[in-house]
Amino acid sequence: MALFKKKKDYIRINPNRPTTPTNEPSVPDNMWAKCPSCKHTLYTKEIGAEKVCPNCGYNFRITAWERISLTIDERSFEEWDTDVETEDPLDFPKYKEKIEQMREKTQLHEAVLTGKATVLGESIALGIMDSHFIMGSMGTVVGEKITRLFEKATEQGLPVVLFTASGGARMQEGIFSLMQMAKISAAVKRHSNQGLFYLTVLTDPTTGGVTASFAMEGDIILAEPQALIGFAGRRVIEQTIKQELPDDFQKAEFLLEHGFVDQIVPRTELRERIYDLVRMHTMKGWQNHE
Ligand SMILES: [Zn+2]
Repeated sequence: MALFKKKKDYIRINPNRPTTPTNEPSVPDNMWAKCPSCKHTLYTKEIGAEKVCPNCGYNFRITAWERISLTIDERSFEEWDTDVETEDPLDFPKYKEKIEQMREKTQLHEAVLTGKATVLGESIALGIMDSHFIMGSMGTVVGEKITRLFEKATEQGLPVVLFTASGGARMQEGIFSLMQMAKISAAVKRHSNQGLFYLTVLTDPTTGGVTASFAMEGDIILAEPQALIGFAGRRVIEQTIKQELPDDFQKAEFLLEHGFVDQIVPRTELRERIYDLVRMHTMKGWQNHE
């Protein structure tokens, strides 16, 4: 005890001394990251700005703002519909407070970011879901913003590129969440009827009502390596069918093999792939050859 007392006195008479005693190990925050897929401990610099595991190729979960900086042309993003207010239809305890906390923490208005942008010069309507905002769950605002994204894209004749990341419907809004599936799907169909292109990029994790609706309605469906994609959870399915499921069940690679995903594209190549697909489907690729 005498030792501790001595240290305290020392700090008091030296106000400029760092608060962390020098004999304690001090590791800066975020210096190490553990890969959720291969469980390797990695030096943060190794995973780079794209946040890809150098050992197994897993694409770490990133925020919607990080996605913006990695995917689209600099300063090309114009955000849409930030004025849609979250309702609390079930009067769910502490829901409003949670939304406020999430807004502060993520600097997002809701679990999806929507707007207009360019990718290597090609104009797109862009939606990015963020799993850091209540697990990217789909409430009425998420539903409304995605619906408006498709409606504006239809009006302006733009293709839609949508990055999905979600735990499914938002339980705090009950049935109102589930209704978003039909609402968005109808807007997707109206966009499609105009002959416009819809590209989905499934990222880790894409589950529940999002998978059961607009995530799987893309004209082309891409996925990031090893992303978890499914409807119900693994344990629920195993208990229901009373069978053990394969290890890679609900992984992007398993879905590709079974025809649910068109291609797995590493994050480092996504920008070019989006550009190629958008150009091809807006026929600009052909015009070049005339
Ligand atoms: Zn890994």
